[in-house]
Amino acid sequence: MRADGAGRATIGGLDRSLSLASYDRFPDALLDVPAPELWRHLPGPSLFSLEGRQGDTLFLSVLLHGNEDTGWRAIQHILKRLRGRPLPRPVLLFVGNIAAAKAGVRTLPNQHDYNRAWPGTTHPTTPEADVMRDVVAIAARTRLFASIDIHNNTGNNPHYACVNSCDDHHLQLARLFGRTVVYFEEPVGVQSAALARLCPAITVECGRPGSEAGVAHAVELIEAALSLQHFPVHAVGEADIDLLRTFAIVKVPGDATFSYDGRAADFQFRGDLDHLNFAELDVGVALGRCAGARRLEVSTADGTSTEYFHYHDGEIRLAQRAIPAMLTLDPQAVRLDCLGYLMHRIGRDGRRLADDLR
Ligand SMILES: [Zn+2]
Repeated sequence: MRADGAGRATIGGLDRSLSLASYDRFPDALLDVPAPELWRHLPGPSLFSLEGRQGDTLFLSVLLHGNEDTGWRAIQHILKRLRGRPLPRPVLLFVGNIAAAKAGVRTLPNQHDYNRAWPGTTHPTTPEADVMRDVVAIAARTRLFASIDIHNNTGNNPHYACVNSCDDHHLQLARLFGRTVVYFEEPVGVQSAALARLCPAITVECGRPGSEAGVAHAVELIEAALSLQHFPVHAVGEADIDLLRTFAIVKVPGDATFSYDGRAADFQFRGDLDHLNFAELDVGVALGRCAGARRLEVSTADGTSTEYFHYHDGEIRLAQRAIPAMLTLDPQAVRLDCLGYLMHRIGRDGRRLADDLR
């Protein structure tokens, strides 16, 4: 094993440094180490180049968010089962935010989010962006088969895959995980958007951390991608896939207070907010109440000012049909990321389906 510190990030006047550690094999000692203990074994973000029997390389990234350990547990499971035998195809495994995993959080307060720091990011000069650039440079020198970035989320959501391209191979890769596929352009700086320029790439959301079903589903996906010889020649049929597109990101203003249990706050969201995820909601569905002239921040992917909410008598109601995703009851997720996303059904051309516009 070598830890050559390849791609040392420039410190650039910042009082913290970050460098990428590279390894040419996966030590057995890591097979049973839980994510919060990885810092005892690895100096920081680490890239493992693992040999396989044949074919192009599968890129896997796990723990871009420190408290989302399903991907790490899935890869441990697969490597344990293979012990001694080579992988069906080579793997580049990126293990991301080990410091945040130690603290059991998504991102540490002094860090830039590991899944907003990839090429295309709005913050290209951070130490995190330097590391991700190094990872992509190494990936770009490799013959890649596909890329899978594995996440968990905090709210009540089904398992689903996300893509940044609706090309056939991206959708076929997503289809290995399930029929619910979300196409998104924002946020930028995400792993799947950077890797989509090199190979078919998906992000998978495996439900809440700690669920065995999430680990089993991730294992199934990785094993399918490892054993797939090549992507099918035929296109993914409209009937084989529930294709959705994120049209808006909803945020609570940084200076506003919020609650879910009716306690006094600028925004009082309903206690079952996350149970609206992936439901096809009609105009008029209430998300909660708000004080005075307070408004949710809605940013749309195309910059249009489409109105998503009506505010009347202190109630926040949907102004058009929409399908929410990742609505969360976790205050930390709301502060660090967003309240949730609003989606619509789309066709393969990326446009909203006519019956969704009713
Ligand atoms: Zn995540």
